[in-house]
Amino acid sequence: MTTDTKKTQLPSRNEFGTYEIRMESIGGQGANLASKILADTAILELGLNGISFASYGSEKKGTPVRAYIRLAAADKEIRINSPVIEPDLEVIFSLVLVKSLPLMMGVNPGAKVIVNTAKSPEEVRDIVKIPGGVTLYCVDALGIAVEEKVRLNTTILGTMARAADFIDKDHLENSIRRNFEKKYPALVEPNIKGFRRGYDEVKIYEVPDDGKYPLVPFHSFQPKLGWKNAPIGGVILNPGNSVLNDLSASRSGFIPVWNAEKCINCGECDTTCPDQCIIFERRTDDKGKERQFFSHIDIKHCKGCLRCVESCPKQALTAERETGE
Ligand code: SF4
Ligand code: SF4
Repeated sequence: MTTDTKKTQLPSRNEFGTYEIRMESIGGQGANLASKILADTAILELGLNGISFASYGSEKKGTPVRAYIRLAAADKEIRINSPVIEPDLEVIFSLVLVKSLPLMMGVNPGAKVIVNTAKSPEEVRDIVKIPGGVTLYCVDALGIAVEEKVRLNTTILGTMARAADFIDKDHLENSIRRNFEKKYPALVEPNIKGFRRGYDEVKIYEVPDDGKYPLVPFHSFQPKLGWKNAPIGGVILNPGNSVLNDLSASRSGFIPVWNAEKCINCGECDTTCPDQCIIFERRTDDKGKERQFFSHIDIKHCKGCLRCVESCPKQALTAERETGE
């Protein structure tokens, strides 16, 4: 372990003296582990104080996950445990989250924003509606992760070391080694490669202060009806309906693709899918017998958990990169 407090100048801008990071991700992408590794580095290697924690939905894989990190100087205690609402560094693991989360809420003009994407920074700015004055870091973390056969979290940590340059790259690399050596020694080197590529292959863009997209101050959402104004009795005019439930925002970049030639219509995938996305249809087979046959995947309702791919005994389902972010 090494500590290097003299080198670590925290560019804090809030009244508590903390540097705050918010990670927006999807369960299964490893944001929680990345936040723990970063806090580890800050505490064990840089001599800072730090905390990290994550908030999950009811089911971890395939649902939005937010992870938070707060860092402070060694002589400053951290007594705030609430979610980060005004991040100095906003990290977006998947661009599809723009459909379901207010990603820019609380982000100020001096903040830094990292986005995992193969798109250009100019395109990303318009998709996410990034206000002027922000520094945008775009990295194809998913592409790198696929090539290095790792999860994208360590690649994103590489880009974080570039954006938050007070976090020394070598110290962060030490932490990744420490974390992976314990449980997955074979994955140490591929993850270090992903980390270094995340540091080197980032595109950095200073978003012009042109007023194109306004700042979005933090505000909490209040329900329109409460105990004071809820009508007594009445009808539900707009009932919830799962037909409207588009789960594309839950996917982390991969979708299952079906190969009809390999399929033996065993139904394993249908039994495994937690969201009933595998559609079978009744048809007559060559011997004139009525049977169920694989028809298609209802991709709108698919959250990309890829359990169907794992369950298929014939590799008739494969995980393919989703192209339309
Ligand atoms: S179709 Fe496959 S990837 Fe999609 S939700 Fe069902 S099991 Fe998961
Ligand atoms: S598990 Fe594989 S082989 Fe069986 S029905 Fe599904 S796709 Fe076809």
